[in-house]
Amino acid sequence: MAKRDQESNATKPEGAASFAELAALLAELGRNFYGRGWALGTSGNFSAVVSREPLRLAITATGLDKATLSADQILQIDVEGKVIEGVGRPSDETSLHLAVVRMRGAGAVLHTHSVWSTLLSEAHAEAGGMSIEGYEMLKGLAGVRTHEHREWLPIIDNSQDMPALARSTEAVLRQHPNAHGFLLRRHGLYTWGKDLAEAKRHVEILEFLLEVTGRTYSMSRRGAHTAGLSD
Ligand SMILES: [Zn+2]
Repeated sequence: MAKRDQESNATKPEGAASFAELAALLAELGRNFYGRGWALGTSGNFSAVVSREPLRLAITATGLDKATLSADQILQIDVEGKVIEGVGRPSDETSLHLAVVRMRGAGAVLHTHSVWSTLLSEAHAEAGGMSIEGYEMLKGLAGVRTHEHREWLPIIDNSQDMPALARSTEAVLRQHPNAHGFLLRRHGLYTWGKDLAEAKRHVEILEFLLEVTGRTYSMSRRGAHTAGLSD
């Protein structure tokens, strides 16, 4: 515990949160996401940048029940994913977090396993992604000023080969420089932000939009079915 109270020697921007502060915030966020059904069981993982030079990330350890996530279950890792503070093994998907931080300059990366991201990532997999447009809630995404915005959410085939998955992620991020997130097929959502608050907002916005899109599709199918029965 004493170690956790020590400030890292690494450089961090003025006013930026310490590792201990970020660990507490990530734990609180994990419990909150569990409560909303976005990180059930041991699913999901969350990270925030502690410092850029050298790169240090606060990230959830693997295999944790998010319902009871606590600050001492958050690890500090370096640019290679090596643990430099805390007990446990970092998430299996650490290389994806590092890829997003490197390529987007993100201050936080959040990954959920919601029902809607799982369903829609399969439904739109053949198209390589899905577009969401015309909703007021799109304005919750950084830089989006109008509901007329068209958000393209790329979909990446899932894999247990993490180096390969990190390479696919890098390729998709390069190909879609304006995307605010991406889906892993039959797996879940990744999004990020300049800081933890923005990343959390992006999860809320994208999860809302995914649910609206999914429910709209089910309602139209049910409508068509009902109409068919009454003919
Ligand atoms: Zn996952």
